[in-house]
Amino acid sequence: MKGYLQSMETMGLVDGPGTRTIFFLQGCPLRCAYCHNPDAISTRGGEEITPERVLQVARRYRSYYGQEGGITFSGGEPLLQGEFLHKSLELLKKEGYNTCIDTSGFGSPALLPKILPLVDTLIIDVKAFSSESFTHLTMTDGFNGYLNFLANLERNGFRGQVWARHVMVPGYTDNEQSMRAFIHILRPIIHRVDRIEILPYHTAGVGKYRKLGMPYRLEGVEPMDKERAKELEIYANKIFSEELQKERREAQRRNHEKFKILHDRAVISEQEQAEMLSSLRNLPLLSEVAEEDVDAVLNEVVLSNFKAGDYVFRTGDAPDLMYLIVEGQMKIFYNTIDGEEQIFYIYRDGDFVGGLNLLVQSPYRYVGQALTDCKIVAIPKATFDRYFYDSSIILRSVLTKSFERIRWAEELIQRLATSNASMKTAGLLLKLVKRIGVETDEGIRLELSMNREELGNYSGLRRETITRKLGQFKDLGYIELIGNKVIIIKDLEALEGYVL
Ligand code: SF4
Repeated sequence: MKGYLQSMETMGLVDGPGTRTIFFLQGCPLRCAYCHNPDAISTRGGEEITPERVLQVARRYRSYYGQEGGITFSGGEPLLQGEFLHKSLELLKKEGYNTCIDTSGFGSPALLPKILPLVDTLIIDVKAFSSESFTHLTMTDGFNGYLNFLANLERNGFRGQVWARHVMVPGYTDNEQSMRAFIHILRPIIHRVDRIEILPYHTAGVGKYRKLGMPYRLEGVEPMDKERAKELEIYANKIFSEELQKERREAQRRNHEKFKILHDRAVISEQEQAEMLSSLRNLPLLSEVAEEDVDAVLNEVVLSNFKAGDYVFRTGDAPDLMYLIVEGQMKIFYNTIDGEEQIFYIYRDGDFVGGLNLLVQSPYRYVGQALTDCKIVAIPKATFDRYFYDSSIILRSVLTKSFERIRWAEELIQRLATSNASMKTAGLLLKLVKRIGVETDEGIRLELSMNREELGNYSGLRRETITRKLGQFKDLGYIELIGNKVIIIKDLEALEGYVL
């Protein structure tokens, strides 16, 4: 495993917290007009370096790092050497080093879930605030990919702090409107942002362009006035702090609303309550709770009826409730940056969701919405901590569920990336067979709680495509369609043939 290094700085003080060793990696997919390291852009060249060598250097300078300092990977674009970066971070983290990457967010998305959990500080370079100016400035068409990178940071396991930076070029973004746009872009991760910095454009790198015989696209643009840049940095920080407060108030409001919804939907009929509690008593979940505590647990949980279409929880909800589905079906999904709904799981009777969130105190990442009328039990965190935290059944179930979810997500990624529409449709039908299929004389019966659009969202296809594919499977005699809500699988083997 090798990486390519452009240069190294051993006592850096600005690229991350404390004193740091900075590895500037070779290669960058962008072409920023103001780049003062044009020699770091080419993906060719650079000095070979191994992750083990990175670790050796870190060990040598460890005594200078103190409490806060550590290792920074900058560039170029460090994410471009994703495998090397991952391996280096892994070695460094094993020995407890503080890590930082300075990035514009361009690298293989598949490696982000491996890399981001190992990063303590992410320095994010926000180049521009609209697609047009991004393309103009960087000569690449990656603004949406960049927004996706930001929006998915937490989904990809990032738990550290963010320093957001912007290079201000006179005549481009040296105004208050741009500063508002800057903060707006950071909204999905605003609670992780620790620092907002404006770096005034300077012309110190121009000489390098001349030496390399490269044209300099900002020829004639004066350096940014430092005082004006400072003023705008203060303004951006003010807007940031207002946004942060707004977000906190919004989170409190949502939390309040969440509990209100639960109580508004609380089951009041005594008979219904008795039925739900008796189903609860039979769940393995309660089998490790001491006999004398079972009643206390049942007193503390909230029993609610949700109507089809009701939201049970949303992305960003605080980890203060775990939900158990006693009856009905719930879909778990998230909205992609393009506004599409991507369904991950369909949960049903006996399934629970949120156990891992309570255990690791991580906010909900997805949205839970009732697909059918549902009876749901909400277990408050205090109850969970008191009676279930040490339960081996809970731990085992959370682990098993997490494992199933990881497998499911891996399969989904594979399916979305490598399958054609027939394979995706067949794969979806086979999933449904496992989940809700009932053997009957006519074949395996699937009673659907999802409409065609939701089936599409579940399988990564458009509604029209899934409708067309189901029609084709019907013509081929593989399935029978009864209205919009029932599918009978006639030829399981034929469907399996598409995915094997
Ligand atoms: S992202 Fe950094 S290294 Fe890449 S072109 Fe822009 S300024 Fe240069």
